[in-house]
Amino acid sequence: NELPSLSSVLSDPPSPQDNPYLIGVGRADCTGPPAEIPLMGYANPEQTAAGIHTRLYSRAFIIDDGRRRVVFVTADVGMISQRLRLEVLRALQVKYGDLYRQENLVLSGTHTHCGPAGYFQYTLFMVTSKGFMKASIKPLVNGIVKSIDIAHRNVKPGRIYRSRGALEHSSLNRSPHSYLNNPKEERDRYQWNTDKQVLVLKFTDLDGDGIGMLSWFAVHAVSMNYTNRMVSSDNMGYASYLMEQEKNRGQLPGQGGFVAGFSSSNLGDVSPNTRGPRCMNTGLPCDYLNSSCPIGGTKMCKAFGPGDDMFDSTRIIGHSVYRKAKVSTCKPALGHSFAAGTTDGGGDLNFTQGDPPEKVEVKYVCVCVCSQMNWPLPWHPQIVDVQIITIGSVAVVAVPGEMTTMSGRRLREAVKQELESEGAFKDTEVVLAGLSNIYTHYITTYEEYQVQRYEGASTIYGPHTLSAYLQKYRGLARAIAQDKVSELPLGPPPPFFEKNLFNLLPAPSVDRAPENSSFGDVLQQVYPIYRQVRQRPSGLMSELCLRFHWLKGSNQQSNATIEWHIPSRPPGVSTGSNTWGTTSSGWAGRPSSRPTRGCPSLQGHRQLLLTVRSQ
Ligand SMILES: [Zn+2]
Repeated sequence: NELPSLSSVLSDPPSPQDNPYLIGVGRADCTGPPAEIPLMGYANPEQTAAGIHTRLYSRAFIIDDGRRRVVFVTADVGMISQRLRLEVLRALQVKYGDLYRQENLVLSGTHTHCGPAGYFQYTLFMVTSKGFMKASIKPLVNGIVKSIDIAHRNVKPGRIYRSRGALEHSSLNRSPHSYLNNPKEERDRYQWNTDKQVLVLKFTDLDGDGIGMLSWFAVHAVSMNYTNRMVSSDNMGYASYLMEQEKNRGQLPGQGGFVAGFSSSNLGDVSPNTRGPRCMNTGLPCDYLNSSCPIGGTKMCKAFGPGDDMFDSTRIIGHSVYRKAKVSTCKPALGHSFAAGTTDGGGDLNFTQGDPPEKVEVKYVCVCVCSQMNWPLPWHPQIVDVQIITIGSVAVVAVPGEMTTMSGRRLREAVKQELESEGAFKDTEVVLAGLSNIYTHYITTYEEYQVQRYEGASTIYGPHTLSAYLQKYRGLARAIAQDKVSELPLGPPPPFFEKNLFNLLPAPSVDRAPENSSFGDVLQQVYPIYRQVRQRPSGLMSELCLRFHWLKGSNQQSNATIEWHIPSRPPGVSTGSNTWGTTSSGWAGRPSSRPTRGCPSLQGHRQLLLTVRSQ
């Protein structure tokens, strides 16, 4: 091996084929402003941020086999936009030159629907999220780059293990009617109409101590529904939180060396709301095929569960995914370390200008319309990144949108076939990283497209979108298998718009304290019935128990409310269970008026209204 640091390590016992990787992990906050910014996901203009449920993090994983280096980032954000990726690449270029670049960096979003909007440069997204906002994109860029910085700094020799398990009762196909339109013989090959596998990569140092883990599970991060106005990392963020709290004992949320990433996958038609869609007026199940109600139609139909409310559901789904990732049994290793190979289609999936890919008849249904809409900027991306990285025998396929269950299965199969065709790959595990690099909405199969439910109607490049992608990814996989990655053309660079970006959001007005009062005054103290029983030295409390509401008020005055939700029983894994003792009537506690460490800082900004509510 070329790397001196590795050869010194290798003089120790490990057998020659047991070459360790160089591995670095890092996590950084990317929360951004928790008020007055539209949230990205439900396309509901009323849903602007007004507080924090959980902070948002970017988690970076650098893997280097001595020949090549790849970086995988999973961030608590709705999706990665082309603009966000371009800005991150620019920042990395300044710091690291060509070390981290378009070909070896994958950015993937967890698909939380309660992160900031406003980091897109295409008109359609600027219209639906009230514009392009520096206040949104800057913390995201900074957080992602910082997580890579941290991972870069702590790169060390280590090993990678892979495992997979099946997680039932945590996901549901939300468009079964579309799924049923896929060929019967194809459907018969699968037990479920969603993918149940949780794939886990475990990273250890050479002593076998865990330094991080990365997993993928296909489910929408929408346990928090459209009525929520607090910034939240949703179910996937909660799974990360649980794993990291367990591994980083005694540390505050978001701190500690162990980094646990829970990434999105082919979740296009997969809901976490396992009680299924019900009519809000009657409580009865909605019409199965059309998701509509006798009175109120589709608007009245909403998916619920598994918890009593969205907070409960977030905890339950997050906990299930975390537990499955934890107990999945590990395969010893990734065979011998052979290639952290990487490749990239570099944006040559050009649907509107180039010739259609050979052998695939591509109909430009939406694109014909959208491509004519270029004012003030193009409404949709016309250059799309497709990318595959391999880490040993695991191939991570970066998907620029939301693939449905069956689309994902077809893609995984195609990539596996190509990789193994040359004999260089065996026992390959192909995993899809969803919402990666650029957002192009949904990708259904041709058959699902015909049904034109939400996912089909949102497959913006038309019914043959999947065929075009399959062809592109096959080409990439073949190049990796034949070790011809360096011969791949980079394709045209995506545009970076400097002009005509617009922001419809009025600048926030400056807050003022009323006369004879000052920022930070307590307006309403907690009920005296709550008393502090015992406090740990660190004085920390489970992040999930604390809710921070920040409501922009009138007369240039805003109030913040801090709610402390005291669990009726200790959560499965909780740093909070020891913080506050029990009384005969249940959990009791009284927060101090100082912001808790690890929770949002309020100093000098707003007035404090403290309340504590017991569940
Ligand atoms: Zn989605």
